Amino acid sequence: MKKKILSKSVITCPSCQHQKEEKMPINACQFFYECENCHEILKPKAGDCCVFCSYGTVECPPIQKELVVVKVAKTSLRKLSSGFRT
Ligand SMILES: [Zn+2]
Repeated sequence: MKKKILSKSVITCPSCQHQKEEKMPINACQFFYECENCHEILKPKAGDCCVFCSYGTVECPPIQKELVVVKVAKTSLRKLSSGFRT
């Protein structure tokens, strides 16, 4: 099963609360984002790879892909260990 990767995220500006839906680059992280309302340059919070992870409603596509990979790996590991028990 393929998980659909969302490519749109609504960014909320931390200084003026202005919201804007933005299209995300599929294979890259966007590090800077300028709020169209107050023209504040947003940067990711510590530990986040891009502005969408910090201020958006949806994480960036590379992170979404990563989550899918982790989930699949855990499932196959569980199958493997239950196989050993029987
Ligand atoms: Zn703003």
